[in-house]
Amino acid sequence: MKAAVGATAFGAKMGAATLAAAKAPFQPSQAPGFYRMTFGSFEVTALSDGTVPLDLTELYANTTPEAARVALKAAFQATPTPTSVNAYLINTGERLVLVDAGTGSYLGPDLGRLNGNIAAAGYRPEDIDDVILTHIHTDHSGGLSAGGERLFPNATLRVNARELQFWLETPEAERPPTAPPHHFAEAAESLGPYLAAGKVETFADDAEVLPGFGSILRAGHTPGHSSIVVTDGDQKLIIWGDITHGDVLQFDEPSVAIEFDVDQEAAIRTRAVALEEAARDMYLVAGAHIAFPGLGHVRRDTTNFDWVPVTYTNI
Ligand SMILES: [Zn+2]
Repeated sequence: MKAAVGATAFGAKMGAATLAAAKAPFQPSQAPGFYRMTFGSFEVTALSDGTVPLDLTELYANTTPEAARVALKAAFQATPTPTSVNAYLINTGERLVLVDAGTGSYLGPDLGRLNGNIAAAGYRPEDIDDVILTHIHTDHSGGLSAGGERLFPNATLRVNARELQFWLETPEAERPPTAPPHHFAEAAESLGPYLAAGKVETFADDAEVLPGFGSILRAGHTPGHSSIVVTDGDQKLIIWGDITHGDVLQFDEPSVAIEFDVDQEAAIRTRAVALEEAARDMYLVAGAHIAFPGLGHVRRDTTNFDWVPVTYTNI
């Protein structure tokens, strides 16, 4: 993900002008970025790391910028498109498990809000027993550490073995051009303190990660990209990771890839399988880059698939 600096500067300027003229001062902040739901005997809390304006029309592949702009506009989404970065906190009663860790300080002030929202949701970083990563891109792992220190000091970090190997051990000469050098550097910086402390455990493709937490290798976006399957009784939540960026175009046209994919062809095949399965089995889905809280269901419609967000409730 990239931060768009221009939109932030514009927002600040507009805010200042309006503030001066307003009879009652405008308030500059959103509601705390957490959304909670019960899930069987578990509690699931969606956590926002923030939203960032992304020019998806330029980032999508296998479409044209104009076609993408028209499709987004038809869904009342502007270009650049406000894009969420979400993480998920699951309290099983036995363990507190965070899936993905936000951007930290890597992607500008629109993002990096995960820890503030963990606090707003009533938890402390030191309460977290495990952090599971769907993959190691900076917007999912950048919030693990700051200044060489682990921000989740009591957590074991759990990640797919081939994902860890790719980002931490691929020699420079063998790195694909679709994985930019700064992603490798940021991966080493963010995961390093956990590796040094002996707090990293890997899981195999499609393996169980912890009791109640399975994984499905959904490779393409990155080589070891894994969706995390949370089950309690007959309830199932699949935390997708980056199966889609946004909730419009890649549902209507699963063949639309994105610049961030390490292997676009594999990501397209993976997305088709994931969408098909979610629509067929009707389980709850969580998407890292679907508008916060990113929780909902997938259904078939006349243009392939449709994203149906959960209905807001008190818990
Ligand atoms: Zn991502």
